[in-house]
Amino acid sequence: MQEVTKLNRNGLTISTLGSHCSLQLLKGAKDEGFKTLLISEESRLGFYQRFNFIDDIFPVKSFKEFLAESCQQYIKRKNAILIPHGTLIAYLDNEQIESITVPIFGNRWILRWEADRKLKQRLMEESELRTPKIVETKEHIDKLCIVKLHGAAGGRGYFLAWNKESFENAATKLIQSMVIRSENELYIQEYVIGVPVYLQFFYSPITRKVDLMGVDRRYESDIDALARIPAKQQLELCIEPSYNVIGNSPLVLRESLLPEIYSMGEKFVETTKRLVHPGIPGPFCIEGVYDRDGRFTAFEFSARIVAGTNIFLDGSPYSGLIFDKPMSMGRRIAYEIKLARRKAALRMVLT
Ligand code: ADP
Repeated sequence: MQEVTKLNRNGLTISTLGSHCSLQLLKGAKDEGFKTLLISEESRLGFYQRFNFIDDIFPVKSFKEFLAESCQQYIKRKNAILIPHGTLIAYLDNEQIESITVPIFGNRWILRWEADRKLKQRLMEESELRTPKIVETKEHIDKLCIVKLHGAAGGRGYFLAWNKESFENAATKLIQSMVIRSENELYIQEYVIGVPVYLQFFYSPITRKVDLMGVDRRYESDIDALARIPAKQQLELCIEPSYNVIGNSPLVLRESLLPEIYSMGEKFVETTKRLVHPGIPGPFCIEGVYDRDGRFTAFEFSARIVAGTNIFLDGSPYSGLIFDKPMSMGRRIAYEIKLARRKAALRMVLT
């Protein structure tokens, strides 16, 4: 069982795994006056030692060692809270994450809803988000579809299909290159034409407010580079584009879209409270596409901080409307922990 009660409210440390958005998280923690601890793979020690806002580094050979008693005990001795991010999810399965004994910021049980396609779909539908049509089998493909692997793969291995044959061709290649074992591991979804947008929210159970903290778009290899190749060569090369995220860039949306975005975030928070106690304290991201009529279709959510928040280390055009100081998502998390500590309500933000 996690040990929220054993935390000493004074002298808290904020810790995370060295990858994904760890620099942003620990910089934010330091700016809010916390001590910081990084769990780093040995190969990256030299890199992380460059940053003076990291007070302490616990080295591991691989993040798979994170659950080892020595690592867990060290974090506890430091009186630390763990901030989960995409790397934790990539290295540990749901049971392992749920069994971590260190207190975690946010709802550890909701990460299962992010990883499981059926649970994810249910949460989005009950939040009344418009979602892309799910195509049950390859026989039902009658328009452009995107075919995905289960779990967060960072878009790796995704492909487009427009009929049964194009599906089978691409699936066979994935099987031959041993990315998947069978077609059953694939999930087919209607492809929504429009611009992809990632909406970064923060929910505070202390102030009971949902804030839009930033918006980004992803820069993916090689789908985003294909337009640099003239059509003639594209046709001859027959490139199957991948959607591997390489980086993110900031986006500012039409102001008229914002009221709807705020209600989407609020409905989402209310639904999480109903479906996965205690809801979603902290950061989350609703990910989707705006079509030509300005209609938003959500294809994903992340139930924790996303790496796209790294853009806004000094705040975003949205966080700047709410806070008088530069407020990254990492700093917002640390600030929430401070608010909760002041109100003796750490249990509202930790699980
Ligand atoms: P992951 O969760 O593995 O990081 P995403 O679900 O974010 O992957 O999708 C990767 C890429 O595929 C993104 O560029 C996104 O815009 C695109 N995408 C995903 N689903 C759809 C969809 N239904 N319609 C159009 N584009 C999509």
